[in-house]
Amino acid sequence: MSLLSRRLLLAALGGAGMTGVALRSVGAADRYDDPRTLYRALADQPGERIDLDGGSIVLVFADGAPGLDRNQVRLWVGMAARAIATYFGHFPIKHYGLLVIAEDSDTVGHGTTFGFAGSATRIHVGRDAAPKAFRNDWILVHEMMHASLPDLPRRALWLQEGNATWLEPIARAQAGELPISDVWSQSLRGMPRGEPMAEEGGMDGTDRWGRLYWGGATFWLEAEVAIWEQSGGRASLVDAMRAVSAASGGNIVTWQPEQMMAIGDHACGVTALEPLYRRFSQDRVATDLGKLFERLGIRSAADGTVTFDPRAELAALAARITRPEAFTKKV
Ligand SMILES: [Zn+2]
Repeated sequence: MSLLSRRLLLAALGGAGMTGVALRSVGAADRYDDPRTLYRALADQPGERIDLDGGSIVLVFADGAPGLDRNQVRLWVGMAARAIATYFGHFPIKHYGLLVIAEDSDTVGHGTTFGFAGSATRIHVGRDAAPKAFRNDWILVHEMMHASLPDLPRRALWLQEGNATWLEPIARAQAGELPISDVWSQSLRGMPRGEPMAEEGGMDGTDRWGRLYWGGATFWLEAEVAIWEQSGGRASLVDAMRAVSAASGGNIVTWQPEQMMAIGDHACGVTALEPLYRRFSQDRVATDLGKLFERLGIRSAADGTVTFDPRAELAALAARITRPEAFTKKV
């Protein structure tokens, strides 16, 4: 299954009232469906502690995860943590619990993240998963993004899923774990699915997967542009996200969206996120995606490849989003 169709399938199956996605066959692993059993397993079963700059991970192989290649799993967890640490400047989750459940498949990463009793992710890994499946996995970084930022009320699930959808490939690209062109090709393909249908209004409360994930991602790309323009190119969304993560401590708290926007704006010295959030949450906002990508210098060629025009109006922003070495000094 292609990355995109896998993302769409998982997105369509996303559960209500929690971030993340869950998809698996019925089996012994279902004993961990109840998040209380996840927390109990993290506390009671043998774990491996991974200390990182800024935080730590306790990695627990559920019931010993017989048949699973533990070294492969450790490498994969390390890659995901590196992507997150690259984006935030350090690993931002003080105490992160990761329960890896072995299953009979060759796929990696059907995961769900919780925060009410500590940042924790439950993720399923196939015993027959090849190294390539681990390298190509996006779900663990997506879940760690959720854990790095505050939980939000259900009506704002689009902000959370859009946020992880937008930031996950960026973090991986910044860490050199995903081609930069993939960040943009995914957005070019995905964002049209988030545009409002004729009968749809504001984003708050939406439960259509395309809007939740890609409509939400479009909001965050618009946020990149708004912060960049208002700050005169001195700040972008990463500055807001780092401040939000630091102030909240991650998904162990539930914030109101307005609080998230205020902290982000303050960190960037702008008033960009608050009005943009109000507009997207309450009104039907159709984005001219063609024009937006043109301003960024991102073009889709007929053969499906992505080209970048460094002379475009917002080319410096596009470069800053995916290339951390291009960061300018912050405000
Ligand atoms: Zn998610």
